[in-house]
Amino acid sequence: MAKLKTENGKLIVPDHITIPFIEGDGVGAEITPVAQEVINEAIKKAYNGQKRIEWKEVLAGEKAFEKYGEWLPDDTMTAFREYLVGIKGPLTTPVGGGIRSLNVALRQELDLFVCLRPVRWFKGVVSPVKEPQKVDMHIFRENTEDIYAGIEWMQGTPEAKKVLQFLQKEMNVIKIRFPHTSSFGIKPVSLEGSERLIRAAILYAIQHNLPSVTLVHKGNIMKFTEGGFKLWGYALAEREFGDRVFTMMQYDTIKKEKGEEYAEEALQKAKEKGLIIIKDVIADAFLQNTLLIPEEYSVIATLNLNGDYISDQLAAMVGGIGIAPGANINYVTGHAIFEATHGTAPNIAGKNKVNPCSLLLSGVMMLEYIGWQKAADMIIAAIEKTFGSHTATIDIARFMTNATALGTREFKDTLIKNL
Ligand code: NAD
Repeated sequence: MAKLKTENGKLIVPDHITIPFIEGDGVGAEITPVAQEVINEAIKKAYNGQKRIEWKEVLAGEKAFEKYGEWLPDDTMTAFREYLVGIKGPLTTPVGGGIRSLNVALRQELDLFVCLRPVRWFKGVVSPVKEPQKVDMHIFRENTEDIYAGIEWMQGTPEAKKVLQFLQKEMNVIKIRFPHTSSFGIKPVSLEGSERLIRAAILYAIQHNLPSVTLVHKGNIMKFTEGGFKLWGYALAEREFGDRVFTMMQYDTIKKEKGEEYAEEALQKAKEKGLIIIKDVIADAFLQNTLLIPEEYSVIATLNLNGDYISDQLAAMVGGIGIAPGANINYVTGHAIFEATHGTAPNIAGKNKVNPCSLLLSGVMMLEYIGWQKAADMIIAAIEKTFGSHTATIDIARFMTNATALGTREFKDTLIKNL
């Protein structure tokens, strides 16, 4: 078995690879083997046994704590670093002071700066919106800055007082409404951090032949952080991808110099040439638009907090909050961890009820990431066929009409039959 590696920024993928996995707590013990079995079968079928994954279990969460007295052993971190690509089930967040969230620790350690969430609808899944088939978006949420950095001080503490003094005395800030009872937070948004996220989003749009990248921000209020994100994004798009994109900044310049008609014509021509349209929208308007005109959006690049709201809203719109996949990726080093986006679901753990699709679809993202597209496509087709014939686990089936509700293992057997 060989390891994945990167050479000159390209992922080198041998036919037989080792993928480390964290089984996960709670329902992890049910969804992980099921997802692995479906993935193995799809790879076998797609490549006639020529390609193969060897799954290497690494411990984290409760399993690690029971064995080693540690929630996230060094060996686990080393494995993800060494093997580049891995997958994980949900982990219990240990309760008690001083223990970092395991998910956060993994992301920070490997500097996985993109949280990628593709959102699409599967025929048969009941959605709260009228035309869920119009939703096909790929969210690039910044994973290391913004509120994620968690730089905050509680009101009343000496630290908060110090921050207040600094703001009032050295920065001439006079606008704080209740200075002495205010908590303070700092939101760092850097040029570098924004550029690497937006670069990854544009490259993804190019690779997947997608029509647009939308920068979603609150630059109208936070001019230098959220507004910076927008400006740096446009500048990067024009500087690094000049022959592949047409930006709405360029549109505005043409409009100013020659009028709207010319600008519209330039936009039309760019679309006909297959250029990627780079646009931006204020976050609140974006959330409205996702309901009104979802077909206008494809790849979304956004900062951490906006990305949090957007991911959940879009997942809910396709009825897929429990089946939404995700990945945390560093596109520079190649490191990536694919994961179920739901938690450990302790209320249904061990009952053969859990829907394995969030982890399975994360596995599909992993196959796409390593270029094993045929196997990925086969799994998607099997899920489409299964949901399309009104067959699902209970969480999805209970909203369908004339549905067959299957247990986790029986659902897996149906998926494999439909491969
Ligand atoms: P949860 O996602 O585990 O469960 C919320 C509800 O959704 C429950 O009713 C559950 O039964 C249902 N559900 C979740 N996934 C499902 C699936 N695949 N199929 C069918 N039903 C499903 O969220 P929670 O209860 O708030 O959290 C439980 C634990 O999980 C906590 O310790 C939390 O910290 C942890 N958590 C971990 C992650 C992660 O590892 N990425 C994410 C969220 C929560």
